[in-house]
Amino acid sequence: MKLPFTLRSFAHGVHPHDHKQGTEHLATEHMPFVSRYVLPLAQGGKPAVPVVGRGEGVRRGQRIAAADGFVSTDLHSPVDGQVLGFDRHRHPSGELVPCVELQADPFSAQEVSAHATVDPDGLDGDAFVAHVQRGGIVGLGGAAFPAHVKYKTPAGRVVEHFVLNGCECEPYLTCDHRTMVERAADVLRGARIVAGQLGAKDVHIGVEHNKPDAVAALRANVRPGEAITITPLQVKYPQGAEKMLIEALFGVEVPAGKLPLDVGCVVNNVGTMVALADWFDRGVPLIERVVTVSGPGVRRPANVRVPLGTSVRELLAHCGGTLPETCEMVMGGPMMGSALASIDVPVLKGTSGVLAFTAAETARGSEYGCLKCGRCLDACANFLNPSVLARLARAGEMKTLEANFVMDCMECGACSFACPSNIPIVQLIRVAKSAIRDERRKEAGKS
Ligand code: SF4
Ligand code: SF4
Repeated sequence: MKLPFTLRSFAHGVHPHDHKQGTEHLATEHMPFVSRYVLPLAQGGKPAVPVVGRGEGVRRGQRIAAADGFVSTDLHSPVDGQVLGFDRHRHPSGELVPCVELQADPFSAQEVSAHATVDPDGLDGDAFVAHVQRGGIVGLGGAAFPAHVKYKTPAGRVVEHFVLNGCECEPYLTCDHRTMVERAADVLRGARIVAGQLGAKDVHIGVEHNKPDAVAALRANVRPGEAITITPLQVKYPQGAEKMLIEALFGVEVPAGKLPLDVGCVVNNVGTMVALADWFDRGVPLIERVVTVSGPGVRRPANVRVPLGTSVRELLAHCGGTLPETCEMVMGGPMMGSALASIDVPVLKGTSGVLAFTAAETARGSEYGCLKCGRCLDACANFLNPSVLARLARAGEMKTLEANFVMDCMECGACSFACPSNIPIVQLIRVAKSAIRDERRKEAGKS
């Protein structure tokens, strides 16, 4: 196949195999209801505060925890059932965190107890932001940042372009792809709602060109004369990062330390638009999401619409379980996701994928010295010097690391992917950044 190199993209980046063939054509299926659900109170921002009591009956869609402050969102029950408690449970990160534990009602039909629908055109800016927060809606691309925070634009700031990320540049993941194909009308409905509220003059949706059916489905739902442009982009990682997507679409660089809004853009994921359409038009808050279950270790790869709080163990069982040779489970994509220490952890609002890998994919070759080949520099879309950062991180040179803009690293892993010496560059950077953040917290505590 002749690759359309004339398509737009950003500078630098890498081209890992996309491994999407196993699930990209599979229609989204529904996860059957299970008996127990565990929902961490923190799912994007500050933990929410429970508003139901132990032993209380709850309805599917009912609010069970309220946002605590602005950078926090409400949490809703994914099932009709009963509150078992508020103990600490294992989070995918490995930490024990406060959760709401629910027992599903085995006799319920599990119909959603919908909230009142709301016409977004009848809301002013603050009422709109508050309503999105009440829907529990966070960015569904993986970061799970509360969606409403991006819609509260500072006075005097102009949003020119509302940008949707339909790149899904992480290998294996196809949940956004299926969402664009199957729910294109709702993606565009969500886009119209947000663009209208923000006063954006147009909407741009970037979709990597390995999803031609998604491009076609979205274009088929654009109304004549509407200022909505669907742009096929090169397949390149990490194009789904906000700044890279803006560069790919408009040729404009978002400077280090600045936000998309500084160049007149607000960026959301396509899945987030469907969640908004469900909330405003159908009164259904964020209680489930599409998860790609894939990787060579999974018996029956699938795209599954999963009630939040379902355990990864039950999700994998729904997909036929894993092969005995599976040696690593990852939540999210293989580039930016995290390895799971246990599969007894819940699906979260930010869970885009659950991947099972065997030794063939996870074996790391021996590490060699730096060849000074520069491939990591060519890979880094943030124009950092990953080789230098890795060396400084190993030496514990924290001040010099900061002077070399280590905190601008988005931990995309493109440098590690490109390195022929198998130097764990991003892991070294991640540990160093965490140490710097700890140090900053300590210093702030002293003053
Ligand atoms: S992980 Fe950081 S240093 Fe490495 S390529 Fe990505 S942004 Fe650059
Ligand atoms: S890619 Fe690896 S070997 Fe090459 S310069 Fe970077 S750190 Fe060194």
